[in-house]
Amino acid sequence: MKRRALLATTLLACISIRASDETRLEMHLRAIRWDSYQDQAVRLLQKYLRIDTSNPPGNEQAAAEFFHKLFDSYGIPNTVFTYAPARANLYAVLKGDGTLRPLVLLNHMDVVRAEPRNWKAPPFSGQILNGEVYGRGALDMKDEGLLQAMVMLIAARERLPLKRDLVFLATADEEVGDAGSAWVLKNRPDLVRGAEYLITEGGTNLVYPVKGTVYNIGVAERILPPDRGHREGAHGVETPRHPRGSQRPCVRQGACRGRGLQLPDPRHGFIDRAEGERADERHP
Ligand SMILES: [Zn+2]
Repeated sequence: MKRRALLATTLLACISIRASDETRLEMHLRAIRWDSYQDQAVRLLQKYLRIDTSNPPGNEQAAAEFFHKLFDSYGIPNTVFTYAPARANLYAVLKGDGTLRPLVLLNHMDVVRAEPRNWKAPPFSGQILNGEVYGRGALDMKDEGLLQAMVMLIAARERLPLKRDLVFLATADEEVGDAGSAWVLKNRPDLVRGAEYLITEGGTNLVYPVKGTVYNIGVAERILPPDRGHREGAHGVETPRHPRGSQRPCVRQGACRGRGLQLPDPRHGFIDRAEGERADERHP
């Protein structure tokens, strides 16, 4: 449900609503067959997860071709930018009426490497077990990338009246050297220039449709373990060597519990920040 709400919210952020059109638009959105889009999203996610984009070496060209064929079949203009052998970014855009600046949906296509013996289902199978899709990238971030692609498909198929350009940008090499996004910034900054908003992964930039201000806390997901042995744990995430020299592995918070590690206490920083923002609201 949360995913479906996120899809609907992202769509709503892009479409043109005049007071007189609101009811008609709401009727339009209500008439959308969300269940069939949801089924399609699951099928496409399975397909996407089966593309092995372990980085290194990445091989994101295959994932870019996946989006290229998908968007072509919906008539969505898109381009694959191959910047090195088997390394590519994909850009797609749905034009709005220009009354607002573009919204960029940014995702990365590569995943960290996976050790099959630690998996219930093969990491590039896209298998469904007990109602959950398994695959490397199912959480980081082929899930969100695929949802962003669904936003494009739905906006195109339903002919939603966009008031801003809806830009989809899938990049390579986020997990190792950021060469994919660096290529965009160096060679094609025009693709994202002038954008008003950009949505991508992370704990602090997801907005759920609830009332009030939402403070998401993303803390201690990755910390340094005391030795290399812990990286083999079932819950560990093996992070490739960092280009700036650090070669230490990282693990998720859950794998560190009970191992004598000090996790940072997020409360003070969080409360300080929230208090600061409240003060800003009182004295803008
Ligand atoms: Zn990621």
